[in-house]
Amino acid sequence: MEALFVYNKMFIQMGFKAVFGLKCPRCKKGDLFNKNGLIVYSDMLGMPERCSSCELKYELEPGFWLGALWTSYPLVILLEMPFLISALILDGVGVWISFIGLVLAFLIAWPLLLRLGRSFWIHVNIRAENEDLM
Ligand SMILES: [Zn+2]
Repeated sequence: MEALFVYNKMFIQMGFKAVFGLKCPRCKKGDLFNKNGLIVYSDMLGMPERCSSCELKYELEPGFWLGALWTSYPLVILLEMPFLISALILDGVGVWISFIGLVLAFLIAWPLLLRLGRSFWIHVNIRAENEDLM
């Protein structure tokens, strides 16, 4: 039982490391994007067709990446919630400062939100597909 717990903990840590490291969900070695890094402004969604290490095809079906909107949306909410709450609490100029902060945070973190959204989306789908391998 304890060995199973340690195994699961290790698996979860490896999984999160691969998600945030933008690595392939199957081998966790190949890069998901042509350019590394969470915040990249040029070619931010440029991806190779297949994993350089295990040859996994990243776009599982046509329109696959549209589903990444579901995983990037909560990230946007997490990022913008402090600004929305402060806009509700503050009055006058504070509301405008919160609004400007909201827009600036979005503009700065935009690549991070899109890239992490895609990474979460493909990791969720590949995990679900290969659940018997876990
Ligand atoms: Zn791979």
